[in-house]
Amino acid sequence: MALPTHVKYLVIGAGIHGLSTAWHLAAKLEAQGKGGGQNVLVVDKTAIAAGASGIACGVVRNNYFQPAMRELMAQCVEVWESDPKAFSYHPVGYMQISPESMHADVATIYQQQQAIGYDSTFIEGEAESMAYMKGLFSDWQAKGITSVLHEKKGGYANNTASIYGLAKKAENLGVRIVTGLKVTSFQYGHNSAAVTAVETDRGVIGCDQVVVAVGPWVSQLWNLLDLPRSVTIKGRDGELHHDIPMWRYWALEEGTLGVDPELQKTNDGKMPPVIHVDTDAPLHSDVDGSLITDKLWGIYYKPDFNFGGIQGGAMPYKVDKPVEEVEIDPYGPESPEFIVDDNFAHMWCSALAFCQKRFEGQIGKYKKEASGGLGCFTPDSFPVFDRFRENVYVIADSNHGYKMIGVGKLVAEELTNGSSRLLEPFRFSRYAEGRLHPVSHSPFPWS
Ligand SMILES: Cc1cc2nc3c(=O)[nH]c(=O)nc-3n(C[C@H](O)[C@H](O)[C@H](O)COP(=O)(O)OP(=O)(O)OC[C@H]3O[C@@H](n4cnc5c(N)ncnc54)[C@H](O)[C@@H]3O)c2cc1C
Repeated sequence: MALPTHVKYLVIGAGIHGLSTAWHLAAKLEAQGKGGGQNVLVVDKTAIAAGASGIACGVVRNNYFQPAMRELMAQCVEVWESDPKAFSYHPVGYMQISPESMHADVATIYQQQQAIGYDSTFIEGEAESMAYMKGLFSDWQAKGITSVLHEKKGGYANNTASIYGLAKKAENLGVRIVTGLKVTSFQYGHNSAAVTAVETDRGVIGCDQVVVAVGPWVSQLWNLLDLPRSVTIKGRDGELHHDIPMWRYWALEEGTLGVDPELQKTNDGKMPPVIHVDTDAPLHSDVDGSLITDKLWGIYYKPDFNFGGIQGGAMPYKVDKPVEEVEIDPYGPESPEFIVDDNFAHMWCSALAFCQKRFEGQIGKYKKEASGGLGCFTPDSFPVFDRFRENVYVIADSNHGYKMIGVGKLVAEELTNGSSRLLEPFRFSRYAEGRLHPVSHSPFPWS
């Protein structure tokens, strides 16, 4: 099919954000009598779900120390709940199980969840935490735990199935999705900074508005748009910190223990919540008892029929290279560089055994298939949702984003109606103005 020569809204990227934006944009335009899906084109250089959204673990949670993140996440959970079947969403809940060094942070999260009406239970004290966990899993044995936050909402969704569900919703409203089409540069107006057209490897498409939703490739599109490669940040100390790189990469480490997912059922035979454990208790090998770490560490896991076992991950690591030298393609499991190795399998399976006796001696069942992938992070590891060059909306989620299915709804509101209170704390100007989000004691860069 021929490419259109001009569209009103051109969305780059067919992942969670591009497709959610396109779907909601089509619905808004129709509701406002301003057109509909026929005004929206989504392009992707590879395929639907070819990026981070298609390999995400799929965890949906509210557990964030930053009030703005929590409010945004509550809105996103509502979108997941609006059609669980289409999004392949499993609302099993989520548990943050923490050591004393994180107790106060998580207590704050709980209090604020109560304030916004987000259903959760908070257990404090070592013995109380152990009793609560044993009430769910009789073989619970994790040490160094002094609080448990049990979010009754959230859970996880099946990665590619949910993205296809979104694509279907967008296409049902008339949105066109063209795959195998790569955006290679932008054309600008004579007297303005605004983009008038995108150049692709199959021709030029004129457009009124552009939405950049390219996940880990955001640093490339950012450069094509000639946006600043470094920023000045006004720190909490009131000082200006210059030349901070705008982007950096972290490699996410995830894998699957190839056991029957039903092995992880709760004492009463139900599918369990997603488990996230952080602890500073020493972690020893489940193979030979050697010390793996005596520093703060964390893992997360869930039974998942889609992955065929107990799937989850551990803390990511920073990619120690200038952004321009990071090989993003081939992405995900196809990458020769950013996939997990035996060290991950050893640590993660030992950590599972540390938490629950049922996982002791199971490392031999770890699935030796390529897994893991890159995420592109902002200077403070929180999202940037903002307009640039007059008509370019950038959705850069700093790798928080599979769970953020509702961001596209808010972006669509901003593109058609004005501004969204929930997105306001994520503007690019926060760096220069020093409107930074509070930082937690979690060992993960996105909590
Ligand atoms: C291993 C892993 C596990 C994760 N687990 C979770 C989780 O459990 N929960 C959670 O909330 N988040 C998770 N994340 C983060 C989450 O997956 C991402 O933040 C989110 O999926 C990003 O969505 P996106 O739509 O911005 O980008 P993507 O899903 O990456 O989609 C971007 C698309 O843009 C296309 N594209 C790129 N460049 C161009 C171009 N020049 N022209 C045209 N198209 C282009 C790509 O082909 C791709 O399909 C995980 C990430 C990874 C890597």
